[in-house]
Amino acid sequence: MNRKKSESLFEEAQRYIPGGVNSPVRAFKAVGGHPLFIQKAKGSRLWDVDGNEFIDYNASWGPLIFGHAHPQIVEAVKRAAENGTSFGAPTELEIEMAKKVIDCVPSIEGVRMVSSGTEATMSAIRLARGYTKRDKIVKFEGNFHGHGDSLLVKSGSGLMSLGIPDCPGVIEDLAKNTLTLPYNNGDAVVELFDKMGSEIACLIVEPIAGNMGVVPPKEGFLQTLRDVTRQHGALLIFDEVISGFRVGLGGAQKLYGITPDLTTLGKIIGGGLPVGAYGGKKEFMDHIAPVGSVYQAGTLSGNPLAMAAGLEMLNLLSAKGVYESLEAKSQRLCDGFRKNAEEAGVPAFFTRVGSMFSMFFTDEEVVDFETVSTCDLEFFKRYFNAMLEAGIYIACSQFEAGFMSAVHTEEEIEQTIEANRDALKTAKG
Ligand code: PMP
Repeated sequence: MNRKKSESLFEEAQRYIPGGVNSPVRAFKAVGGHPLFIQKAKGSRLWDVDGNEFIDYNASWGPLIFGHAHPQIVEAVKRAAENGTSFGAPTELEIEMAKKVIDCVPSIEGVRMVSSGTEATMSAIRLARGYTKRDKIVKFEGNFHGHGDSLLVKSGSGLMSLGIPDCPGVIEDLAKNTLTLPYNNGDAVVELFDKMGSEIACLIVEPIAGNMGVVPPKEGFLQTLRDVTRQHGALLIFDEVISGFRVGLGGAQKLYGITPDLTTLGKIIGGGLPVGAYGGKKEFMDHIAPVGSVYQAGTLSGNPLAMAAGLEMLNLLSAKGVYESLEAKSQRLCDGFRKNAEEAGVPAFFTRVGSMFSMFFTDEEVVDFETVSTCDLEFFKRYFNAMLEAGIYIACSQFEAGFMSAVHTEEEIEQTIEANRDALKTAKG
């Protein structure tokens, strides 16, 4: 496959942009070579600047649950743009969006729109600290909640792929207030809260971890988090930036029947435009300015283009059978992968919740950061490059999720399973 143009653009980009990319996970650091520069995308397909075509299971890292450039979403954005791209003043669309989110997500009675997942989690943490008048927060190793200072400690996603456990530039006085625990370990949570529960403002968790690859919560884990935080007067924050509207309209909280105090959202609710949101009971949300004194603001928050795209996405998702079909297709794909791995004698551990899934190259059961870290990263690198060569675009790190979209066809799934069979053989050597 000729990728010369991407290669030369990457060289040029590195002269002007740090590492040639505007977000580190895109840089293909963990898999070698250079990233693809994308020319265009439609439905489940991507085309790079060299004219190569790929079936896409990255979906812009999750948001594009109806694939690229869905005609209804494109039309909604066009319509909105013709009426102005930003007003910095309220619009009716924002009420519609808030109502829809409140309707769908059990914990949310009031919601504030922001422009990224990072802003959503930063703001939710500030609110929790302001509400409880406590400083400490708890997060889990390998969970990623964006790049807010308090949250860059033992984080997942790009930090994990690049081996950056603690980020320089995050001042010690702040980092010391971030306590980290192993994911899926309820006993460790109980123990920590027993020791210092009265100092803890909140516990933030990806209810389905997606940033160390997909690691589902063990039975009872989320319930423990709910019980312990309630007992100690700390807020429970579900970071559903990935899982929100991905595993169902009500996100992971509906799926598992556990209601957090605050929820952060992003990705899918923006329909592929820059959006995040945080919400919860009015009791908490009324502490945000201008009602309360916890300050949070944004010039482009509730942007009309983003609201239009997001609302169209949520309308599409509300149609009957969407999640059932995603579930069936994802299962077919993962079953195919599993069979291939067994036949090829490649040790692999599979995880999947709805349409988010992972194939970990390890013979251990993957439940947390430590077990994820047993994966054979050299094997993944060879596997990734073989898949790319076969025209299948997956996330360029072992520690990221795969995403099925509503527009992937049965033929594409079959083609992907075949590519996987060959890629496993190639990677095995
Ligand atoms: N939380 C989670 C769970 C995420 O996966 C991400 C992004 N991958 C974020 C927060 C940050 O979102 P953004 O990249 O939009 O700032």
